[in-house]
Amino acid sequence: MSPSPPIPHRLKPEDLVALRERYRLERDRRIRPDGTSQYRRAAGDFGYYAKDPYTERADRDPKTDRVEAVVIGGGFGGLLTGAKLRQAGVQQIRMIDEGGDFGGTWYWNRYPGIHCDIEATIYMPLLEEVGYVPKWRYAPGEEIRQHCIAIAKRFDLYADTLFHTRVTGLTWDEENAEWQVTSDRGDDFRARYVVISSGTLTQPKLPGIPGIEDFQGHTFHTSRWDYGYTGGDQTGGLTGLAGKKVAVVGTGATGIQVIPHLAEAAERLYVFQRTPSTVDVRDNRPTDQSVLDSVRPGWQQERMQNFLLNVTGAWADEDLIGDRWTSTAKLQRQMLTGSVDSNITDEERDHLDELADFRKMDEIRERIDAIVTDKAVAETLKPWYRYMCKRPTFSDLYLQTFNRPNVTLVDTADHGGITRMTATGVVVGDTEYEVDCVIFATGFEVGISGVLSGTLPVTGRGGMPLLGHWARGPRTLHGFYSHGFPNLFHLGSLQNAAAVNFVHVLQEQATHIAAVVGEAGKRGARWIEPTAEAEEEWAGIIFQTAPKTFAFQTECTPGYYNGEGQPRPVMFSYGPGPVAFHELLREWRADSIDTVLR
Ligand code: NDP
Repeated sequence: MSPSPPIPHRLKPEDLVALRERYRLERDRRIRPDGTSQYRRAAGDFGYYAKDPYTERADRDPKTDRVEAVVIGGGFGGLLTGAKLRQAGVQQIRMIDEGGDFGGTWYWNRYPGIHCDIEATIYMPLLEEVGYVPKWRYAPGEEIRQHCIAIAKRFDLYADTLFHTRVTGLTWDEENAEWQVTSDRGDDFRARYVVISSGTLTQPKLPGIPGIEDFQGHTFHTSRWDYGYTGGDQTGGLTGLAGKKVAVVGTGATGIQVIPHLAEAAERLYVFQRTPSTVDVRDNRPTDQSVLDSVRPGWQQERMQNFLLNVTGAWADEDLIGDRWTSTAKLQRQMLTGSVDSNITDEERDHLDELADFRKMDEIRERIDAIVTDKAVAETLKPWYRYMCKRPTFSDLYLQTFNRPNVTLVDTADHGGITRMTATGVVVGDTEYEVDCVIFATGFEVGISGVLSGTLPVTGRGGMPLLGHWARGPRTLHGFYSHGFPNLFHLGSLQNAAAVNFVHVLQEQATHIAAVVGEAGKRGARWIEPTAEAEEEWAGIIFQTAPKTFAFQTECTPGYYNGEGQPRPVMFSYGPGPVAFHELLREWRADSIDTVLR
């Protein structure tokens, strides 16, 4: 077990007032009234930002047949569902994806420096089934993408695949108890079951910057990296940028990994930052011998569950992963139980969660001071919000980049981001930065499958549109299915579970869906559908358990975790957390599965 980090400062409860005020000021500096509508889709006039640079689109005839199950999305959610449905005995599975192969976010994202910062042994699913042990503690993107392909091969998911295909409509046919599925490739076929797993981190988003279309230089989004322009590959060596002035917009988990490579190659790099990320120690290395020695039946599930218990503050008597995710959670847990400091006063005890949060954030801010030599730049890089307000990041290269003479950090927070773009550059306030190339590391539409954005219309029983049924917000049982929309399943965190290792959540979801479908098969049920009462009851539970998360999210700096500062409880996951939720699902499968079978 790793030792607790040293406690840098002792913050008194009375100091919390000033700290909260500092966090509030930073939040207000960043908040924008246009919330999530500040972004624009990489579609229409901006469709070239989303074009597939990796695989040629092949001609094919439209499908007009009938299959047992359709899975929309070929990322980890879809692959896990396909694999589990196969294990449950489903023969005809048609996988559909807008990309040219499996991988989802790992198909699209191939930028230099790409790695997963969650340990590969718990992030890359189905290792035992595929017979693979990751080479690195934090796997490079290409190793993960190849693993996606290996899963598809292992479970025979290539057999009936439609790539470069976007589903454009799902319509329930009551008489035949099946879905009519249409697509942008002219397909019009039937499926008994439909699983939608297309809502996570694939659709790039761009900031709605005035004048973005006027820029005459080169530009692309990090999830469609243009190696033809930059040269090099996912390990770096971007020789095409020699002599070029480059702007990168965004300092989230992607920006943090890309920026060191851009800085090495470009003549000048401007980093446009709005909110600084927390950047903790990375410490990547080849997979430990102790991990290799632990490989035996059940080893991956044991590690996944142990990580989940440790990072959610549940009880675990050991820490099998032992990285910065778990040590941070452990420090916070130790403070909350008083085992870090036995001299805490009663007053301090009332605020231990905030004090523990402060210690972590203080450690993150101290690391910046220790690495970045220019004091003003170091101050600009410091994050002022609570630890889980934004996705934490990890790097042993990023902060050092700001000591290079060819790198300029441009703080855009006071302007709500970049002010505008011109034919030749990027403007913040009154200052224009002339550049040859602008790279957008501005993220994705998160948790918004086509169902919620309206690009995938779903029509259920009696011609009811799903968005009509959800007019007052999504209504589901356990996030999976809705009354009036039989045999249709959703994957994602909405009214379900969320966790740092989201692949673990997807695995539980796929297991659940396959169990319900398998049971329907055994009992000869024609359709799977929750009652209106069960759906209503679940919505009530989501609301009842939301207040703590809602209060936390409302005070957070804006980002996609909190709907850009406008959190909506109806979009939340189950308040007591993923460990409790997975237990609830297990019990439900044992006791109540018949309530959704007709
Ligand atoms: P994010 O949404 O996290 O970050 C987008 C960045 O763009 C933010 O820094 C944002 O600033 C900035 N931005 C947006 N609009 C503007 C604007 N108008 N002007 C200036 N800056 C702007 O996207 P990422 O691609 O970095 O990450 C998305 C997710 O992908 C992560 O949260 C993570 O879940 C996943 N990921 C995981 C990795 C891993 O290792 N496991 C690696 C990479 C990504 P602001 O913060 O102020 O909104």
